[in-house]
Amino acid sequence: MNVKKILNAFGIMYEETHPAVSKKCVGIDCPYCHDTGKHMGIFLDTGKAFCWKCQKTRFISQVLYKLKGVTQEQFEAVSGIRVRNDDQPKNNLDRIFKKTNTNYVQVEADNSEIIKHFLSFESISSKPYLSAIHHVMLDYVTSRFTWDELKLYGAGYALSGPMMNRLVIPYPAPFIGPPIGFVGRDFTGIAQRKYFVTPGLSLHSHVYPNSAFGDRRTDVLVVVEGIFDSWAITDYLAVALCGKAISIKQISKVISMYPTMDMTLVICLDGDTSIRDRGNVQRELGVFFKNSVMVNLPELLDPSSIPTNELSYYIDKGVESHGKD
Ligand SMILES: [Zn+2]
Repeated sequence: MNVKKILNAFGIMYEETHPAVSKKCVGIDCPYCHDTGKHMGIFLDTGKAFCWKCQKTRFISQVLYKLKGVTQEQFEAVSGIRVRNDDQPKNNLDRIFKKTNTNYVQVEADNSEIIKHFLSFESISSKPYLSAIHHVMLDYVTSRFTWDELKLYGAGYALSGPMMNRLVIPYPAPFIGPPIGFVGRDFTGIAQRKYFVTPGLSLHSHVYPNSAFGDRRTDVLVVVEGIFDSWAITDYLAVALCGKAISIKQISKVISMYPTMDMTLVICLDGDTSIRDRGNVQRELGVFFKNSVMVNLPELLDPSSIPTNELSYYIDKGVESHGKD
């Protein structure tokens, strides 16, 4: 657990070496006895809190709630730690970011305004001073993506403006052409809307293709839900629908972009997608392909939360199963 990061993210002042508090702790003001001498120690390894003045014992998330009204969800989003169960922080974080639902909302700003406030990750990481929120963002992106991926897809970060403090993704990716819009993804988990989209970009009229570079099979097209899922598909061509359904416009885009009659279509939507939704996509798009197969990921999982080789195993298994019948 990164206690200092968590305290920074919520703007809590702490003393690193408090003479009256254990060396394993940082000291903060205790909200239970209203101490202002930073006598509440937060253990850096466990997040447990103990006040050397009033003897209160709590967990950091409870203290944050008492101090600032930080909810469980906000705490989970920033810390990646779920205190209800004993499962792993990394899995929790993936689940937390999934839990807030994929609601795309258009913002009233044109693309030039977005670009003005948009900073590439290269320029962020070379900045000598980073604020707490930048650290949270860098932790988030580096735990999920590689620098090469972020560069390839032209992702950046909005310092200010309508997409402020969001991971900003040009749509489509730079290797396809100039962006027709931007998608801003919240990474703190505390924004009201997980996704912001610039006007003029109707996600349901487009598909988001992954890179055609590298060593990938070009006879397989994988259809996924989210943009990050398409990034996660590194062994095949992929397009993201930005949702669980496919529109007529999206179907015509796919047909115009790929030699579909020579390809196998693989439907690989998130694990929580209903059989009916998957079936609809397969039925509507599958007729334009040589073959079509459905891959059923385990519930709670989506392509971007599965290790690459495991994901390829699921997809390969799907593709092969078709050859057998
Ligand atoms: Zn106290």
